[in-house]
Amino acid sequence: MAVPHRTPREIELMRRAGRVVADVLALMEEELRPGVTTGQLDAIAEAYILKAGARPSFKGYRGFPGSICVSINEEVVHGIPGKRVIEEGQVVSIDAGAIWQGYHGDAARTFYTGTPPADVARLIDTTRLALMAGIAAAVPGSYIEHVSGAVEDVAIEGRCDIVRPFVGHGIGTEMHEDVQVPNYRIGRHGVLLEPGVCIAIEPMLALGSADVKTLADGWTVVTTDHSLAAHFEHTIAVTESGPVILTTA
Ligand code: MG
Repeated sequence: MAVPHRTPREIELMRRAGRVVADVLALMEEELRPGVTTGQLDAIAEAYILKAGARPSFKGYRGFPGSICVSINEEVVHGIPGKRVIEEGQVVSIDAGAIWQGYHGDAARTFYTGTPPADVARLIDTTRLALMAGIAAAVPGSYIEHVSGAVEDVAIEGRCDIVRPFVGHGIGTEMHEDVQVPNYRIGRHGVLLEPGVCIAIEPMLALGSADVKTLADGWTVVTTDHSLAAHFEHTIAVTESGPVILTTA
């Protein structure tokens, strides 16, 4: 597979996109509270992205109507923002993407409205730590399988189930490029991580079974047993000196 290797200049443009995404997620953390609607969050996010001089990657992507995805409780990813009102005691995953001068940044975080029960805290912490372990494994000379294995090990350690049908991806001039980044070992090395390779790593974990289905809206992915789910994502670049997170302030 021909994998794009991004130049330092291209990576800098992705970092600009990524900074907008990081800022949006920080803003969402501030704005997320019981009583706000997912549509209001989307409007705030979209306004921020446009004011920053970027464009929302998600809006219009295969017809997606929002600038962010908001996925609540048993919703894993791709929740469509709208009239739904955020309540106390919910697991809320927000995914955002921005384009800066043709280059993409894509990231997600899971929040909780209130103080999470211990098992929910474990779900959220495990998913975040799985992402960080995956990033740490993305050193030059390693392979996608090392990233996948690092994510898988943390998920198992945290007693969470891995959502398998959705995986991380190459990213650059498109939000989703050919490289796939599974959150579990597939038994093959996969793509060599050389300097310039840019990927989005995005573990999606569930407290119960991670068996999932897509709702009739064509987008929202939910756990079939209604297990709570979490989702963390960063866009990273593999560089000579190691992995660099691009979706950070
Ligand atoms: Mg992604």
